[in-house]
Amino acid sequence: MSTIDPLRDEDFGARLTFDRGAPGRFAVAVAGWDGPVVPEPPAGLLRETLALPELSQGELVRYYTALSRRNFGVDSGTYPLGSCTMKYNPKVDDLVAGLPGFAETHPLAPVEEIQGTLRLLHELQGYLAEITGLPFVSLAPAAGAQGELAGMLMVKRLLERRGELDRRRRVLVPDSAHGTNPATATMAGFAVTELPSGADGAIDPAVLERELDGTVAALMVTLPSTLGLWEPAIEEIAARVHRDGAFLYGDGANLNAILGRARFGDLGFDVVHLNLHKTFSTPHGGGGPGAGPVCCTAELADYLPAPVVVEAGDGSLDLVRPSDTIGRLQQFHGSAGVLIRAYAYIRSLGLAGLRATSANAVLNANYLRTLLEGHYALPYPRRVMHEVVFSGSRQRNPGDVRTYDIAKRLIDYGIHPPTVYFPLIVDEALMIEPTETESREAVEAFARAMIAIADEAARDPELLHGAPHNAPIGRLDEANAARRPELRWRPQSI
Ligand SMILES: *Cc1c(COP(=O)(O)O)cnc(C)c1O
Repeated sequence: MSTIDPLRDEDFGARLTFDRGAPGRFAVAVAGWDGPVVPEPPAGLLRETLALPELSQGELVRYYTALSRRNFGVDSGTYPLGSCTMKYNPKVDDLVAGLPGFAETHPLAPVEEIQGTLRLLHELQGYLAEITGLPFVSLAPAAGAQGELAGMLMVKRLLERRGELDRRRRVLVPDSAHGTNPATATMAGFAVTELPSGADGAIDPAVLERELDGTVAALMVTLPSTLGLWEPAIEEIAARVHRDGAFLYGDGANLNAILGRARFGDLGFDVVHLNLHKTFSTPHGGGGPGAGPVCCTAELADYLPAPVVVEAGDGSLDLVRPSDTIGRLQQFHGSAGVLIRAYAYIRSLGLAGLRATSANAVLNANYLRTLLEGHYALPYPRRVMHEVVFSGSRQRNPGDVRTYDIAKRLIDYGIHPPTVYFPLIVDEALMIEPTETESREAVEAFARAMIAIADEAARDPELLHGAPHNAPIGRLDEANAARRPELRWRPQSI
């Protein structure tokens, strides 16, 4: 191919600003200084030479613009990363979080001076209580996993206060759960018992029955499960767990499936965490910050992580430590920017908008399920909630195409790959969450790409084994990239 692609030919990664430009070039000319002259630092402390990049302003702008175009995000295209809810987030929520009255508030400011921010946080606690049906809320956790840890430490504290902790040392976790659930239970000091899912992907009541023997502290349920499936017997399961004296923990990270339609509290859950950075409009592709509020029943409220915002008799707001709190999880009041975005999101949508969110999330996932059903194996052919889990197993024959190859090939179609090889109970898993904000055309375009790839897998498996072909960086040796990354710049031209 003879066409020149300036982005690719700029050999991204190999040449940094240091290796570009030429001696004597500069981006900005600073006029001479005629202000007071500071004393010269002592001899010996001054550098004799300093190898800084020497680029014109235009070269510099092009370099960074090229770098920015290497980034893939929800603002650039479909990003169907299952369980992660990579949806489009309204920009107005960023604007609200950036208002100087919020953004410039010092985290150590006395409560009398941040009554407006506290009012917002207090109202947000109320909205989340209303949305989950669990009336007591702490906004403190900084991520979903931290919210889970808070919830399980609260359960542990209550069992301790009841004198039951010695015998209730086990936490039950279905094998379809998110990986953070068993990790959380272990970190909280419990032993994890994995529950094998039934043939329909749901919790098997007989398996549960066998385990409930008075030694169980809690059952942790991801709802919907990471298979994107509803638990049809969840209310009976809740009642059964409670009869045994155990607690029901809810992983509500993927609330876009049920928002405004079903409430954890009404279903019988005792404590739940939400991922505001998934459902409630904080972009999180870069890994943070997040917010994982924890919501619970009155029975667990005294143990909530500090602080919580409470209204005093005179209407003023205060940050307080619940009476028997598990303590603080991080400094200050939680991830303020994420909390403010969530507030703006809830207020701007209202109940009708929140219900439309879950309607569209579920509609998109099911539409995609029907579009792809004939082309990829579907291990649990049921109606799904916010996401659908296919298997790449059919593509293994005859060309040994793996899910990994399918994911890499999607990059050539300009689409971010879905989550792969998770959940673990699905062979060659492709976990796809179109989210509520993808248009019908975008869902159909994604399906067309997946169908084209299934066709390529049958006709030309080598094409997939070598993918991606159009990306700035091709297929990496992942073991070496992870274990022996080359992170140090070595000069090319100096
Ligand atoms: C994302 C997710 C988590 C973990 O949330 P983090 O904010 O990444 O810690 C837990 N459970 C489920 C179901 C998730 O999708």
